Amino acid sequence: MRERAMDLYEHQARELLDHGGVLVPRAEVVDSPEAARAAAERLGGRVVIKAQVKTGGRGKAGGVKRAEDPAAAELTARRILGMDIKGHTVHRVMVAEPVEVERELYLGFTLDRAAGRFLAIASAEGGMEIEEVAAHRPEAVARIAIDPAEGVTGAKAAEIAAAGHLPPETAGTIRRLWTVLTTHDALLVEVNPLVVTRDGAIVALDGKVTLDDNARFRQPSWDGSADRTEARADDRDRTRESLEARAAAAGLGYVKLDGQVGVIGNGAGLVMSTLDVVAGCGARPADFLDIGGGASARVMADGLSLVLDDPDVRSVLVNVFGGITACDAVADGIVRALDTVTLTKPLVVRLDGNNAARGRAILGQLAHPLVHQADTMDGAAARAAELAA
Ligand code: GDP
Ligand code: MN
Repeated sequence: MRERAMDLYEHQARELLDHGGVLVPRAEVVDSPEAARAAAERLGGRVVIKAQVKTGGRGKAGGVKRAEDPAAAELTARRILGMDIKGHTVHRVMVAEPVEVERELYLGFTLDRAAGRFLAIASAEGGMEIEEVAAHRPEAVARIAIDPAEGVTGAKAAEIAAAGHLPPETAGTIRRLWTVLTTHDALLVEVNPLVVTRDGAIVALDGKVTLDDNARFRQPSWDGSADRTEARADDRDRTRESLEARAAAAGLGYVKLDGQVGVIGNGAGLVMSTLDVVAGCGARPADFLDIGGGASARVMADGLSLVLDDPDVRSVLVNVFGGITACDAVADGIVRALDTVTLTKPLVVRLDGNNAARGRAILGQLAHPLVHQADTMDGAAARAAELAA
């Protein structure tokens, strides 16, 4: 059988963990020193700058550094961007909120191919020296077989924690991490370090996920070309791939298109007709994004931040017909997204159906200068097209 495995970047793994309810530091991914500075400003000044390359040992290679303020973040990002770590050039860095670490633990699930089942691996001695610990004191790294029929129950999670000498409070995270693995068909989910913070929270400070799928997560071609046209095409491919990978990681039905109006809707049929209406207004849709019939506020927030990160997008049209997910939940999702995403492009929202009035009131209260509401799908599309022109 041909093996299909694809490693994700740390920031993609972080999103999966976050989505699965595992605590992760607030963070943004950027590709320039200036953007690192701006991200640090949004994250409260002091940050950690982390090279995004698909290899471990970034810390030891100088690819993970603290910065005390936004100016330092810019300088640090300038040093890390372009760095070579084990043959991987750093094109992007993650700017993350620093965490006050009390203890560093190790926790992972990996496929034991010989046995054809998953193993939990847990150790109270996580951190950058885990390989040495595993090599010289294997007894400090517990390996616990998972019964595929049972998965990781509460009792199993407690057993894993006890075997690895992890504090019992990690049991919830152990179960959520297992759910992340099963939800995404991952071959490996590894958190090193999983930390206990000064406040006693259990936070995933790093994440590695290997998916059993290389169709959706094709390796971007990073090799720089002197030819500028080709370089631009590479950039576009890279953007497309990273957006599509993020969408897949977040479980969103997303297809990148070539236009400038970002489109978000619930239900494939509604999104399809929204694309048509946008085209009818003389504009071109930048994407197809279906947040689904049962979309939560969280899914809305993920979808919106994804579409806003598409550099081609000039305006965003959110077209929702409230059903299982009522319009007020969608409006909440938009408000939540704007907590973490700075709106730099106009957003046109059309809410209809279940709890539409409540949803409109929530957006009305937000009174954001870039958020516009429209009563009809045609009106909304016309407005979004105009704003993108
Ligand atoms: P890796 O070296 O590629 O595994 O990268 P990591 O993401 O694991 O970072 C390396 C090390 O940096 C971690 O093992 C931590 O000890 C440290 N580190 C990263 N972020 C933070 C942070 O927010 N606070 C503290 N105290 N240490 C951090
Ligand atoms: Mn690590």
